[in-house]
Amino acid sequence: TVAESKTRRLILVLGDQLDRNSPALRGADPEIDVVALAEVRAEVNRFPNHRNRVAVFLSAMRHFRSDVEAAGFEVEYQLLRDANGASTLPKFLERVVKSHQPDELVMCRPGRHDLVGQLRATAKECGVSMKILEDSAFLASDDLFADWADGRKSLVMEHFYRFMRRHHGYLVRDSKPEGGQWNFDKENRKSFGKKGPPPVPSPMSFPPDEITMGVLEDIREDSNLVGSPDSLDLPVTPKQAQKAVDDFVENRLPTFGTYQDAMWTDEAYLFHSRIATALNLKLLDPRYAIERAIEAYEAGASPLNSVEGFVRQVLGWREFVRGVYWREMPGYLDRNELGANRPLPKVYWSGETEMACMAEVIAQLLRSGYAHHIQRLMVTGLFALLYGANPRSVHDWYMAMFVDSVEWVTAPNTIGMSQHADGGIVGTKPYVATGNYIQRMSNYCSGCRFNPKKRTGKNACPFTTLYWDFLDRHRDFLSNNRRMGLQLRNLDRIDAGERKEIRRSAERVKKKFEHGDL
Ligand code: SF4
Repeated sequence: TVAESKTRRLILVLGDQLDRNSPALRGADPEIDVVALAEVRAEVNRFPNHRNRVAVFLSAMRHFRSDVEAAGFEVEYQLLRDANGASTLPKFLERVVKSHQPDELVMCRPGRHDLVGQLRATAKECGVSMKILEDSAFLASDDLFADWADGRKSLVMEHFYRFMRRHHGYLVRDSKPEGGQWNFDKENRKSFGKKGPPPVPSPMSFPPDEITMGVLEDIREDSNLVGSPDSLDLPVTPKQAQKAVDDFVENRLPTFGTYQDAMWTDEAYLFHSRIATALNLKLLDPRYAIERAIEAYEAGASPLNSVEGFVRQVLGWREFVRGVYWREMPGYLDRNELGANRPLPKVYWSGETEMACMAEVIAQLLRSGYAHHIQRLMVTGLFALLYGANPRSVHDWYMAMFVDSVEWVTAPNTIGMSQHADGGIVGTKPYVATGNYIQRMSNYCSGCRFNPKKRTGKNACPFTTLYWDFLDRHRDFLSNNRRMGLQLRNLDRIDAGERKEIRRSAERVKKKFEHGDL
């Protein structure tokens, strides 16, 4: 028959590849091809994962299954609760290859370097050819990134971003940037002042449906998971993801830019979009988000500083870190240029600390699995960097705790941008600051027993103490970086006696954190 003469394909889809129009599915034939997805124990318990992270992945996978079945495909789907299920993805692959005997295996490239090798090796052992396709859910293909990056001495995000703006024609007129500037970041650093944020329209909520409830039930007893979420209301289908974008563009984008770095107690989402999870699971095409935002600008509904700031995150930063990940792997996860080897303090899992900012952000994370970029970079990330936590353990914590984490995006953001452990590939300098930065950008310090201005003494803010200690400890390394000049000159103004006292205070702070009593 016709069917017998065609190549029978097994299409493997991973939890972060839920694009209904992916290259792996586009040419598929429901008559003969089979789609396979698995919820596997090894992935769920790879880290002490946050419940909401596991739930959103599994729920989105189960919704994907329904859609693909409705399109007429046979779907091999392994549920987590299946007691005889394969415990790892390679084992699952081996099982489905044996039972379906396909002529060919097809998948999009996984978002994790080690998985590519593992799955290829399994296919080889099973004697079946494997085609790994490039994921079209990104705006920079491998070739495009290489065209830009090859031959450059250093990879600077801002240069890549301008290249991407020109290449895609986003916010570009006659080869010139819209508004006469490529970057409006200077307008995007406002704090809320004493009055606090203007009224924040709540993001559109997608309460658990029957499928999500089923997932939550399946993971209820898993004591390896962390977080006691009060809700899971993120998009789990493409339709919901588009609605979330539309809601953001209409209600929060106009104010997003101005306050994108600001923080406030009990305001987790503020004017942020909350679409990273949908993007990273491929429920949402980044082009949709970018184009809706640009339309809002063109219609006069959103100012340029907001729209450009948003486009920079999605078109620039997100695509840039992905390019860096694939260029630098393997080996990137173990970079540790600053030789930071302390175990991550327990507070990262408990949120129990007298530091109001850390307590607030970690409690928020335990409740939701969400924190916005400044809470990530300038509170939890900054503290780990100043404390000297091992960068790999910091990375693993971000992977575990954040609903939107996927290795290709988390590794460059933590190992590189946040911990400067890659020696400056992603960030041109370490992002370090005293508690004064947090005081300026939030109201956290007003409810804290520490004083952000003080670097030594009983009330000294741990951020401030550890900041000066960090500059002191890494002075030689940092002096090679022109952008650190001002900060180092300020360090040099502190007399030898006080520097000694700072070092002693820093040791005391670190000891206390080690024992979990600060
Ligand atoms: Fe955080 Fe220091 Fe401010 Fe306390 S004083 S909230 S520890 S920055």
